[in-house]
Amino acid sequence: MTSEIEQLQASTLDALQHLQDAAAVDALEINILGRKGKLAALLSRIPTLPPAERAGIGTLASEVKQTLQLAFNGARGKFSGTNDHSHFDPTWPGVAPSIGHLHPVTAFVERSVQFFTTLGYAVADGPEVETAAYNFDKLNIPANHPARDLWDTYYLNPERDGILMRTHTSPVQLRYMETHKPPAYVVVPGRVFRHEATDASHDTNFSMLEGLAIDRDLHITDLIGTLKAFLQHTFGPVKMRIRPSYFPFVEPGIEVDMSCLICHGKGCSVCKQTGWLEMLGAGMVHPVVLKNMKVDPKKYSGFAFGIGVERMVMLLHGIPEVRLLLSGDQRFLEQFHY
Ligand SMILES: [Zn+2]
Repeated sequence: MTSEIEQLQASTLDALQHLQDAAAVDALEINILGRKGKLAALLSRIPTLPPAERAGIGTLASEVKQTLQLAFNGARGKFSGTNDHSHFDPTWPGVAPSIGHLHPVTAFVERSVQFFTTLGYAVADGPEVETAAYNFDKLNIPANHPARDLWDTYYLNPERDGILMRTHTSPVQLRYMETHKPPAYVVVPGRVFRHEATDASHDTNFSMLEGLAIDRDLHITDLIGTLKAFLQHTFGPVKMRIRPSYFPFVEPGIEVDMSCLICHGKGCSVCKQTGWLEMLGAGMVHPVVLKNMKVDPKKYSGFAFGIGVERMVMLLHGIPEVRLLLSGDQRFLEQFHY
């Protein structure tokens, strides 16, 4: 019986070679594989066989059936491809290719960088894996200084010193000043890393856009004017408010608030009824940091600012959840065509 099944396969494959159209393929398929077809007829004899002969017949039959099914499908495909044009309508519009677009974070960074380059700023980037010297020490945050606790840091070695994931892009400013002399104006966009519990407004991985200006006679009013121009370029005619703050690498340090985009200062849930939104930190570069940049603080002064990109993108587009921005979810991202 084994040989009969094998013969059936061989003769069917041979017959398929000589068919002329899809209808003939259909007819042959029914004749061979149909419920009352030749294969079924062969298999109906299994119960009459001696037990020793039955073994293996089932497996062989299903293999043959699979092989023939593929052959029939292939033959049908061949004919529908050559003879059957009924499905093709040349007046149908083509399939539009899916064209990518910038991620909202990337688009925001590009637009912001463009703004600062029109003010004369250069653009720099640097390594995401940093040494503690650049991420902390040279920024006036020595080891064991309590200010290090302000940044929850991913250390890459068990001794918790030396090599780490940068917690801000400030190290790039130090590196930039190693190869540039003042006057220097530079913005540094880049990804930074914090060992934090994530929630709707915190992620362990986000983007910053930091800026540094070093020149003669730079004052805090220059900083405030620059930031006001940036916020109004990004958000339209908003008001700005300055509060004193502490960052180890600036003196004095400030935090910048912007009038609430939702309620325009009246008070709402987004601004916690204050009418103001915290936007970014900034300040005049600390003399110790200037010295670490080999800049003479008696001759030059400087200001620096750090913009949390995701926070700005969330405010700009009314996005309630920061983690959406790194989710890679197309349903979310396709809302932001630029
Ligand atoms: Zn508000």
